[in-house]
Amino acid sequence: MASIFTRIIRGEVPCHKLFENELVIAFLDVNPLSPGHTLVVPKQEMAELHMLSPASAAALGAALPLVAAAILKATGATAYNILQNNGAMAHQEVMHVHFHIIPKYEDGRGLAITWKPSAIDHASAAKLATHVKQELCA
Ligand code: 5GP
Repeated sequence: MASIFTRIIRGEVPCHKLFENELVIAFLDVNPLSPGHTLVVPKQEMAELHMLSPASAAALGAALPLVAAAILKATGATAYNILQNNGAMAHQEVMHVHFHIIPKYEDGRGLAITWKPSAIDHASAAKLATHVKQELCA
């Protein structure tokens, strides 16, 4: 079954569209965290970021700064977060890749982040880095 975003891309579901090209569409989030909260979505219907084709990924990378700059100008916001969730455990609700652009305002409107860092374990980090690099070369 087509995702809600595919239905928006097809024009079957209305949206406040901000940008569209052959590979990407951007529209306002229907439940914004702050004014200007936008979703940037590849037309390729894939659930998670690592599944995208290089062409879709590149098109997203090109669209994000363009759309973000326009949102800042239009809203007057000077700060923003980019959020991209993959998997239900990581709070992904719509299983079609999307990037959130979320303006952050002086009064606190925008993305609230709880960040609980821990000190790196250099021995296990070195092993992990070696493993990931092997995967990248595979
Ligand atoms: P996720 O948690 O998957 O990263 O976020 C999905 C986002 O899609 C949510 O912020 C939600 O408000 C938005 N969304 C879900 N359905 C629709 C829709 O039909 N139209 C628009 N514009 N946004 C939607």
